[in-house]
Formats: sequence, structure tokens, C-alpha cells
Amino acid sequence: MKIGFIGLGNMGAPMAENLAAAGHLVIGFDPITDLPVGVAKANSATEAAKGQDAVITMLPNGQILKSVVDEIVTVMATGATLIDCSTVEVESARKVAEKAEAVGVHTIDAPVSGGIGGAAAGTLTFMAGGSLEAFAVAKPLFDVMGQKAVHCGSSGAGQAAKICNNMILGITMLGTCEAFALADRLGLDRQKMFDVVSTSSGYSWSMNAYCPAKGVGPESPADNRYKPGFAAELMLKDLRLSQQAAKMTKTDTPLGEHAAQIYTTFVEAEEGRGKDFSAVLPWLEKRDRQ
Ligand code: NAD
Repeated sequence: MKIGFIGLGNMGAPMAENLAAAGHLVIGFDPITDLPVGVAKANSATEAAKGQDAVITMLPNGQILKSVVDEIVTVMATGATLIDCSTVEVESARKVAEKAEAVGVHTIDAPVSGGIGGAAAGTLTFMAGGSLEAFAVAKPLFDVMGQKAVHCGSSGAGQAAKICNNMILGITMLGTCEAFALADRLGLDRQKMFDVVSTSSGYSWSMNAYCPAKGVGPESPADNRYKPGFAAELMLKDLRLSQQAAKMTKTDTPLGEHAAQIYTTFVEAEEGRGKDFSAVLPWLEKRDRQ
């Protein structure tokens, strides 16, 4: 396929490179970063989008996405497919879909899980919202960039799945960190704590696959001085998106709200910026209950 790729940052660059390596004709645009191997250079978003079968966006937020889409829908071919893989508000995803579909461009919102490692290895999970026809066009590209793609429903459903998943992740990571901090002060050996919880009802991905305690469980950012992995800032972004959606739908999500507050403090007032989101554990350990 002829593909335009807009936003070649930490995630977009390896995704575009994998598409090019699989034999697709990829032209990319990013105002800042270098071009990945095999990707031709466009000097603007419109140049990257014009005449392509599919355009993929991987951008920092909904505002940037909407302004890029305003530009590119004017030049995209009728019947082409716009695949947005950024994590943005459900509302933004729906607005983008409305705007594009109005000029005959099909859309899929397809945020990803799997991080930079998954993008490089081509093992991302895509959660997709849009028509089944648009999903069918995007699916072979998802298969190159990832290992799983789930069609979640109509426009915005991919973003909805992403923020619900990450709200659970933020909450369970905080719970896991709190439990380790408490266990430490109770004199419980961390390995014993892991051995029990990882096979008991407290188990979760945060405990079993991404343990926030150093030297325990499979290798995780805790074993690498909390170098991200999944940065605390990105967790904060996703928790804020979840709370924006909760407000919009008048959903009561007290733990999601509290998790967003804790990550706000951790990132904006304390030591969390630039660290993995599991670095809440050493931070909590230094604190005392007031
Ligand atoms: P990034 O900041 O590394 O990349 C974003 C890129 O977009 C940058 O290179 C920037 O120059 C470019 N950009 C900004 N404005 C642009 C414009 N107008 N036109 C073209 N390019 C523009 O961010 P990232 O880590 O690659 O994340 C991208 C998206 O993926 C975000 O929405 C993020 O929430 C989501 N995400 C990231 C991860 C992760 O682990 N990094 C995991 C899952 C989802």
C-alpha cells in the first residue's frame, strides 16, 4: 500500500520503519525527528497525505491531531483510510471521524498498547474504533506493526478501550506499590510477598509482569533504575483522559480520580517526571503517613 505516516516520534518511527520493511511505500512527515530507515521524506503533513491509500497519524495529543486532520482531509483521496494511532480524547476521535467521513475518507481510531519496545518489535496491540470496512483495510497494517488488533466498535471505541484499560493499570500499579511499601514496613520479605501475591487474589499485570519492586519477578523498569518503560507522564496523560471521559459521561470513578491526583503530584510536584510509572514505589517508601 501507499502510506503517509505523520508523527515519527518514539512510537511512530519504528512503526513506520516496520511498514517500510514489510514492503509498503511509506512517506513520512515530522517537523523534528530524523526519518526512519526506508521511509521517504515529506516536507509537510499534506505532502505526506496526498494520494495515499492510507494515512497513519501518531501524534502527542488530540489538539495536534485535530489541527493535522484539518489540513490533510483537504488533500486525501476519496475512499482513502485515515488511521489514528495516537492516544487522544474519545471526543477528539469522534470529531476527527466526522470531519474525515464528511469528505469521503474512512477513519479508524486505533490507539496502541505495548510501548516503545512493542513498536520496535512489531508486537503492539491495536484497539480499533470505526466501520468494519475501514478496519478490514487497516488490519494488514496492524498485522505488520503488531500482534493483535481488536475491533472494539464504532468511532471512539478504540480510545474508550485504551483509557479504560489504562485506568485499571494506573489503579492497580498504585495498589501494588502501596502494598509493597506496607509489606516493607511490616518486615515482610519482598520475594515472599511476590511469591504469595502473584499466585493469590492480589495478582495483576502490575504485580506479575511489571513488578515495581527491584529484583523481584520478571525483569522490569524497577531493575533498571526506573528508566521508562511506560513513563509516569504518559500514565498521567491517560488517567486525565479517563477522567475527562468520566466527566463527560457523568460516570463516578473515585479511584480513577484519586489515581490521577496521585500521578499529578508525583509528576508535577515530586520526583516522577522522566521515570517509569512504577517508580511510585520508592517515592511512597520515603513518605510517612500524615
Ligand atoms: P513522541 O513525542 O515521541 O512523538 C510524537 C511526534 O509527533 C514527535 O516526533 C513530534 O515532533 C511529532 N509532531 C508533533 N506535532 C506534529 C505535527 N503537527 N505534524 C507532524 N508531527 C508532529 O510521542 P510517542 O511516545 O511517540 O507517543 C505518540 C502517541 O502514542 C501519544 O499519543 C502517546 O500517548 C501514545 N502512546 C505512547 C506510548 C509510549 O510508550 N511512548 C505507548 C502507547 C501510546
